[in-house]
Amino acid sequence: MARIVKLQKRVKELGLDAMLVTHLPSIYYLINFSGSNGVLIVPQQGKPHFFTDFRYKSQVKIEVAGAKVSIIDRDRTIYDAIAEKQLFSDYDSIGFEPAHLAYWEYDILRKKFRHLKLVPVPDREVEKLTMIKTEDEIGMIRKAADIGDQVFKQVLPVIKPGVTEREVAAEISYMTRKFGGERDAFNVIVASGERSALPHGVATDKKIKKGELVTLDFGCVYKGFNSDMTRTVAVGKISTELQKVYEIVRAAQQRAIDKVRPGMNGRELDSVARDYITLHGYGSKFGHGTGHGLGIEVHELPMISQRGERYKLEPNQVFTIEPGIYLENIGGVRIEDDVVVRREGGCEELTSSPKELITL
Ligand code: ZN
Ligand code: ZN
Repeated sequence: MARIVKLQKRVKELGLDAMLVTHLPSIYYLINFSGSNGVLIVPQQGKPHFFTDFRYKSQVKIEVAGAKVSIIDRDRTIYDAIAEKQLFSDYDSIGFEPAHLAYWEYDILRKKFRHLKLVPVPDREVEKLTMIKTEDEIGMIRKAADIGDQVFKQVLPVIKPGVTEREVAAEISYMTRKFGGERDAFNVIVASGERSALPHGVATDKKIKKGELVTLDFGCVYKGFNSDMTRTVAVGKISTELQKVYEIVRAAQQRAIDKVRPGMNGRELDSVARDYITLHGYGSKFGHGTGHGLGIEVHELPMISQRGERYKLEPNQVFTIEPGIYLENIGGVRIEDDVVVRREGGCEELTSSPKELITL
């Protein structure tokens, strides 16, 4: 309920009568519904109203708390049901999430509720609410990160010349569930050799060879919360340049972790890692941001990047720190950990796998 109250406060501040929540992770965050179809209406005051279809009739009874529920049969859309219940008749304005409402839905809303002002609420208002985590939520991410650490340790013996990236990815997914994760947080990335220069190289049938770097980027979901970690390991002896690049990334990542303070912004923290990598001549080879918020979704706010100026770091935010260097046709290195900002200054690392170069 505390989560709903937070959103209602925001709805009031924005001068709206209600908020239409259509982004499923936000719905999960607000009322604990984990299915794949639903619309949540959160009025400025009073109980929210949740609409979903007949497939979730039993599931809502188990999961959903703090909202009125309406189940829609096969022949109607959720918006037909909302119109029938005349839920919007007292409202002048309702906010919606522009990034999460399909055009056909917007069109129906416009036609069915002509009196209603549909207000796009930009800047991910609902997602913003999830930025500051409770200790319980941090505990869930910590557990997800622990599972990831265990998986990393146990998967190392699997990585050897002749094994395909896909086999390694399959082991990671299997162990993730075996050690208590609900599922992979995202499609497991295993990128070896030249392919390690692809920041998002999902596993292929390429065989791992001696002398290559292998980047593993994976995460798990525990009670709805995600972890996300990356380690790059060497199979046999790697070139001097790749060794050098590894040490630069490792130092850049450590510097960023050491510099986390409440009050700085996402851009400043990004610059800590970026300036170090640039100083060592690889600035142009670090194409993505230093990190991203983590929680109900794998990519949340705040943004730890050059676009992250408006996100101030605050206690109990959880995000990743993951600088990388990618040399086209040669290979790449990324190291990623999950951290939580602490009031006393600094941050607590939730992932704890070793960061020195592991040679298999
Ligand atoms: Zn990752
Ligand atoms: Zn990440």
